[in-house]
Amino acid sequence: MDQEIRIRPNDVLLVIDVQNDFCPGGGLPVPRGDEIVMPINHMASRFEHVILTQDWHPRGHLSFASSHPGRKTYETIYVAYGPQVLWPDHCIQGTAGANFRSDLQIPHAELVLRKGYHREIDSYSAFYENDRKTPTGLAGYMRERGLERVVVAGLAFDFCVRFSSEDAHHEGFEVVVVEDACRGIDVDHSMDETHRALGSLGIVCVSKDHVH
Ligand SMILES: [Zn+2]
Repeated sequence: MDQEIRIRPNDVLLVIDVQNDFCPGGGLPVPRGDEIVMPINHMASRFEHVILTQDWHPRGHLSFASSHPGRKTYETIYVAYGPQVLWPDHCIQGTAGANFRSDLQIPHAELVLRKGYHREIDSYSAFYENDRKTPTGLAGYMRERGLERVVVAGLAFDFCVRFSSEDAHHEGFEVVVVEDACRGIDVDHSMDETHRALGSLGIVCVSKDHVH
């Protein structure tokens, strides 16, 4: 966490899912998720390139416990592509819960990438849906724009931040996670697993105070 990061012209700040439903009072609240909004605004003002992701599900999405009668929220089931945690309904297309937090102020963000819009596939990662095969197009966008390093912040650390960071690494991008500009959910030790997974790939976790 104490490594210093100097922002380069071909860096992009990837802001994951800072939406009403992921903050306290929302449909799938990440504890203290609201605390990262101001630090992310502050950090974003120093980046030339910022991309926002937006979780964006149709009603009746496969990842919702409500789509599986008899199942409970936060339970894991097996679907065609493997394990899937069942979430409370969240980020339904066109609803207030799916909106970005109104205090997220990054007017110069150059791309809003929506994900999770296929009813039968969840998408934690900004790069690939949970079948690990369906690309979102973000890797191609970044290559075409000459963006080489991804600095990741947002919600939730142990799901969408984790999988976006891992996929960015596998796509050949350099990755830095700003850990104190993220908050986690912690389902079945997912926080520990995330630290282990990022560490095993050599992905650097830093503090927002060390990004200049
Ligand atoms: Zn979702």
